[in-house]
Amino acid sequence: MIRYAKQTIDQADIDSVIKTLSSDFLTSGPAVENFEAAVCEYTGAKYAVAMSNATACLHVACMSFDLGKGDWLWTTPNTFVASANCGLYCDAEVDFVDIDSKTYNICVNALEEKLIKAEQSGKLPKVLVIVDFAGAPCELKKIKTLSQTYGFKILEDASHAIGGRFENTKIGCCDFSDFCVFSFHPVKIMTTGEGGILTTNDQKLYEKAKLLRSHGITRDERLFCQASHGPWYYEQQHLGYNYRITDIQCALGLSQLQKVDDFISKRHELASRYDKHLSDLPVRLPFRDPRHYSALHLYPILIEENKKNLSRKDVFIALTENGIGVQVHYIPVHLQPVYKAKGFKENDFPNALAYYNKTLTIPLYYSLTKAQQDIVIEKLYEILI
Ligand SMILES: *Cc1c(COP(=O)(O)O)cnc(C)c1O
Repeated sequence: MIRYAKQTIDQADIDSVIKTLSSDFLTSGPAVENFEAAVCEYTGAKYAVAMSNATACLHVACMSFDLGKGDWLWTTPNTFVASANCGLYCDAEVDFVDIDSKTYNICVNALEEKLIKAEQSGKLPKVLVIVDFAGAPCELKKIKTLSQTYGFKILEDASHAIGGRFENTKIGCCDFSDFCVFSFHPVKIMTTGEGGILTTNDQKLYEKAKLLRSHGITRDERLFCQASHGPWYYEQQHLGYNYRITDIQCALGLSQLQKVDDFISKRHELASRYDKHLSDLPVRLPFRDPRHYSALHLYPILIEENKKNLSRKDVFIALTENGIGVQVHYIPVHLQPVYKAKGFKENDFPNALAYYNKTLTIPLYYSLTKAQQDIVIEKLYEILI
């Protein structure tokens, strides 16, 4: 079986984790701080807060923006449910903006039109969650300009995009977003087992996020609201959570981060081979914007009309039966029962729906060999031609 996604763990990763296991700290120790510092250095962001997963980061980011009842959070329907759920966690209303049919990212024109209408009805969003889908950056500059006109915060869900670049800026540098989130789940570009990190250049947001990661508790006496009871005193100032990440995970993260650029260049090499070898098939290949550098987390192809009249579902099943792992990214979030119950209709976001009906993610990752990739290509020919 060739999987659609897979982590790469080498001896240096194993050594790094083992060393941490026999150190003084298993959690909230130096590996966490070192990992945060390394991600700041890698992305160019001023601050980073590592957490138990990217979903926790999205939640904490929304809480740091004081998102709450009566507020709106907008996002793209073409994402994992977590990008929208963070709004519901905060009791906010969630709405979506349709995607661009070429990039599969949030459509900036649709966003602007929706903002104009929302301003008229007094329902402008407080937070916009943008997703760098498949590792390719959104129109960050244009979105930032819109945020200045309409006053919303930008939460960049870059779960797919560590190591990518928007023009010449690193994803995660936060030049164009208030917070950026990376996920380190094993299917992503690099892994900590489970884990995620928030980056920001805003000191206030950073301090709030750090508090919320660990129960809303501070031990820094300069920040106390009440008089200290003594050297043991700590203070809970917000209703935070336990979203901490361990030193064991961060030791793996530190070691993985060293390899991220290699991971991505191999993905580019393999993606170029797909581009070349799949171009004669009745499939639409993913667009790569030459202005940017995609982290290439995913390689989604669209199953177009074909002589055998095969649907995406037919191709999905045939590939699986041939030992090729595939996936669908994503079922539009508004089609999920939780969101349908809020009144969303199937065709509310027609571009996302049309994309969803055809899309199929084929295997792409660092340890996929060219021989394995050739099997994927061969099977696609056998099935479709
Ligand atoms: C994976 C993913 C998440 C959630 O990441 P976790 O670390 O598993 O919580 C959120 N958003 C997107 C777009 C993702 O792909």
